[in-house]
Amino acid sequence: MRMPHRVLLFALHEYDMDDWQTFDIGNPTEEHAMLREMIRDFVQEEVEPQAHEHDKHEKFNVDLFRQLGDYGLLGITVPEEYGGAGLDATAAVIANEEISASDPGFGLAYLAHSMLFVNNLAQNGSEEQKTRILPKVCSGEWIGAMAMSEPNYGTDVLGMETTAELNSDGNWVINGNKMWITNGSIDDERTPADVVWVYARTGVDDRGRPQLSTFIIENGAPGYSVGQKIYDKTGMRASNTAELVFADCIVGPEALVGSPGSSIHHMMKNLEIERLTLAAMSLGIARRSLDIMNRYASDRVAFGKPIRSFGQMQRYIGESYAEYRAMRAYVYDTARLLDLNEGGQRLDSDGVKLYATTKAKEIADRAIQVLGGYGYVAEYVVERLWRDSKLMEIGGGTIESHQKNITRDLAKDPDAVNR
Ligand SMILES: Cc1cc2nc3c(=O)[nH]c(=O)nc-3n(C[C@H](O)[C@H](O)[C@H](O)COP(=O)(O)OP(=O)(O)OC[C@H]3O[C@@H](n4cnc5c(N)ncnc54)[C@H](O)[C@@H]3O)c2cc1C
Repeated sequence: MRMPHRVLLFALHEYDMDDWQTFDIGNPTEEHAMLREMIRDFVQEEVEPQAHEHDKHEKFNVDLFRQLGDYGLLGITVPEEYGGAGLDATAAVIANEEISASDPGFGLAYLAHSMLFVNNLAQNGSEEQKTRILPKVCSGEWIGAMAMSEPNYGTDVLGMETTAELNSDGNWVINGNKMWITNGSIDDERTPADVVWVYARTGVDDRGRPQLSTFIIENGAPGYSVGQKIYDKTGMRASNTAELVFADCIVGPEALVGSPGSSIHHMMKNLEIERLTLAAMSLGIARRSLDIMNRYASDRVAFGKPIRSFGQMQRYIGESYAEYRAMRAYVYDTARLLDLNEGGQRLDSDGVKLYATTKAKEIADRAIQVLGGYGYVAEYVVERLWRDSKLMEIGGGTIESHQKNITRDLAKDPDAVNR
């Protein structure tokens, strides 16, 4: 049963702690449970039937994407006054988990738009920017992207080479290339995203550190184009990835977010919800892979017995179940504590992504193994989930960067281990 958009507009109520033993961390309120049910129905009816074809042909399903706007999902964390659903980090996790249990490629396009562009704007944009742009990106009229990475700078993001210089006429001139940008092109004709959140270097501070600023650049800005759509990706083929080129790109003062040089803080803050929702995508991949391998192990007979009776198959299923449950608890516990307005949750947003991404990849891998030859072909889905799962260890921060951040944060706050 589909529920209309308005269902998302209920205010989330506080959980009654008298019921702590029946508390479901994945559906902490009735509204969260309704949201999950609504998305699950939508995914089953609309997302699942198109997933294989769009992966196979490396096509982003723009029409289906826009439909997410009708359900209030494109602006899931945006206040209602700007056309959003006004929901919290747990709701964002539910949406990302459910979509990626079917089609992580489509899910990545959703995450890039709703978390990397839309949530960023809702949190950090000016009133004028929010009023002008949020209704369009919440409805699906506009598709958004976020451009941080560059051909020569990924993990080492503060080294970025893209520059923005203030002209004497008050306009900014942006030069540089951005690489690997999800939704950077919305089709094979290299049509740029309608709007992109671009980080650029605007100077250095007195200690020689780079100062980063953010610009909201709309399709049609002179000097903004798609360099290449990137083909032949291992996975996430239902989302478009592109290189963006800014060649003397001119934007007016209204494109600047906040004050010049103030972006590192909000960049780091938005990475928290990005990493948490990438972990949520991994949770969806893990759940689906586990479900497929578990059912298959009952149906498939070898040596006169269901293969689930063999100890080695039991190890695949048993370990996957335990890890999936641990992942689910950590993802939703982090979501519960992540305040979208505050930040300061890097330890666990990195931690949960570090754990969930690799576990999802391993669980998808075991699912292929349990299905044998059938697991290796598209009809049985798990090979696609396995290919898609690998990106999670790279995008939004590599697993090595999470290891580094966690160790650094625990050095600053050793008591975090005992809390
Ligand atoms: C499909 C896809 C979609 C993407 N979408 C976006 C997007 O929408 N927007 C965006 O801005 N970016 C996007 N990215 C880019 C992604 O965030 C980067 O690929 C990622 O941050 C890694 O950067 P890199 O590829 O330059 O690798 P590098 O940073 O060059 O890393 C190469 C290797 O070196 C390791 N390494 C680097 N520094 C250290 C260190 N200090 N210690 C230990 N090991 C280190 C890394 O962990 C990695 O294993 C996307 C990437 C892909 C593949």
